[in-house]
Amino acid sequence: MTKSRIFLSAPHMGGAEQKYVNEAFDTNWISPVGPNLQAFEESISKYHGGGYHVAALSSGTAAIHLALILLGVERGDEVICSTFTFSGTCNPIMYQGATPVFVDSEKDTWNMNPEALEEAIKDRQGKGKKVKAIIPVHLYGMPANMPEIMKIAREYEIPVIEDAAEALGASIKGKKTGTFGDLAIFSFNGNKIITTSGGGALMSEDIALVEKAKFLATQARDQAPHYQHSTIGYNYRLSNISAGIGRGQMEVLDERINQRRSVNQWYKENFSDKGFDFLTEPEGYFSNYWLTTALLDGTSFDREELRIELEKENIEARPLWKPMHLQPVFKGYPYYGDKTSEYLFEKGVCLPSCSSLDEEEKERIFQTIVRFL
Ligand SMILES: *Cc1c(COP(=O)(O)O)cnc(C)c1O
Repeated sequence: MTKSRIFLSAPHMGGAEQKYVNEAFDTNWISPVGPNLQAFEESISKYHGGGYHVAALSSGTAAIHLALILLGVERGDEVICSTFTFSGTCNPIMYQGATPVFVDSEKDTWNMNPEALEEAIKDRQGKGKKVKAIIPVHLYGMPANMPEIMKIAREYEIPVIEDAAEALGASIKGKKTGTFGDLAIFSFNGNKIITTSGGGALMSEDIALVEKAKFLATQARDQAPHYQHSTIGYNYRLSNISAGIGRGQMEVLDERINQRRSVNQWYKENFSDKGFDFLTEPEGYFSNYWLTTALLDGTSFDREELRIELEKENIEARPLWKPMHLQPVFKGYPYYGDKTSEYLFEKGVCLPSCSSLDEEEKERIFQTIVRFL
């Protein structure tokens, strides 16, 4: 008999999602406009303390693409982004015909190293390049060092897009990720801490930017009785059905964060003494621990051996993100840093981190790893 699969990060509904989806059906708002969409956007703003403007979109990648367009990123421009990330962060730079400039990680958060960022800005500007935006990423739910990054960005007057796709609800000294930069993006893909089955959002305090994002996301229709266009548009809006799922998920977000953090705590209690070196929060940092991650430096096996062993028991684990500067498709683009991310990729593993992980599943994971040791 095959055992049920333990996923890295599975969707976890709270209960109200279906009610909101049914409401959409009952009122025939089966389109990318409607009450769920508005309520979902309002709930995201409120969650961040209110006063934010939000555009719910078809994906986090679409949100980054629109953010770059809003900042005027064009062919020939450069955009600095974390190399240690998922390709969704930097693909939109290519959509715009701009050049990605990759900056490596710092050791304590695994996110953008502020020193390497400043070195990159100086060097690119020194070469006469136009650096139009910086995209720091809050990977695995751990905030990047935003106070330092914002200080540098302000000094050089370069706008910041926070990629908070994995970090909804994380914070530094109580200030949430997504509220540091000029624009922020979130993802509600099926594997994220909450999901709309597929979706994303763009958030900013600047209403004009967000209004323009909504305009661009709905094919850039000018005010006219007929279809009139004076700029290129996109079909990037979230549907009112998906937003219904998101509305329900926002109601349980803090619960999901507590559950992910408790899973992380369980791993630390059970495996810290077995050579697993877990990513931990620096002073004042609060991670949503979307995924529990560890470096296997002090173990007698490597991350791939562990992954295969878990896979035999139908348990999903995965290496950390492969840095973008090592990806064949981004070969030859500028890179700054000390290769920390290459070390992380070589040594690191993501462990099953579902908020719904139960005692029986934990026991299976524990037994499999202990047997392997
Ligand atoms: C998931 C993710 C994205 C892209 O979000 P999608 O909704 O999947 O398009 C971007 N950046 C990071 C770091 C992500 O994890």
